Amino acid sequence: MPRVGLVALVDMDGTLCDYNGTMERELAALRSPADLTAPLEESEREPPWLRSRITLIRRQPGWWRGLPRLERGFEILAELQALRFEIHVLTKGPAGAPIAWTEKLEWCQEHIPGIPVTITMDKGLVYGKVLVDDYPPYIERWLEWRPRGLVIMPAQPWNRGFEREGVIRYDGRNLAAIRGALQKLCEA
Ligand SMILES: [Mg+2]
Repeated sequence: MPRVGLVALVDMDGTLCDYNGTMERELAALRSPADLTAPLEESEREPPWLRSRITLIRRQPGWWRGLPRLERGFEILAELQALRFEIHVLTKGPAGAPIAWTEKLEWCQEHIPGIPVTITMDKGLVYGKVLVDDYPPYIERWLEWRPRGLVIMPAQPWNRGFEREGVIRYDGRNLAAIRGALQKLCEA
């Protein structure tokens, strides 16, 4: 049985499932020779044609449900389970892909059956003692309301160098540090 009130929130994309790797592979498959030479404005990190392709990929039936697991996220999940945290998945529901809302639930039912799922547009509103998330803007938003909360951030290229009080980056080699921080919360 989980300990009452010891709530841990666990993200999906970039934490439990490989959203970015899958997206990159599909975008690569759709690339045309012209894309590589298309001039890109300095401000255009994501030109309109690329955004459109991403939207099309995200709206394919079965795409979200079929995302592969990220083992690093599952390692953190196992630590939380061992310490009897009350685990909830906390994931952003994309406004432009309503199909994702259904398939995210289906993904959880298949890969982590029995764990409750919260799909939200604002992670900052959701209570927890721990947040496991890879994305700095969501981490900052959540910490605004829980300045003493603990965040475990699975290492990803986009969160390299992101440092805040209460945030521990998990790179696959520091599981003991993660365990120690979680144990401290259990004793508090
Ligand atoms: Mg994420």
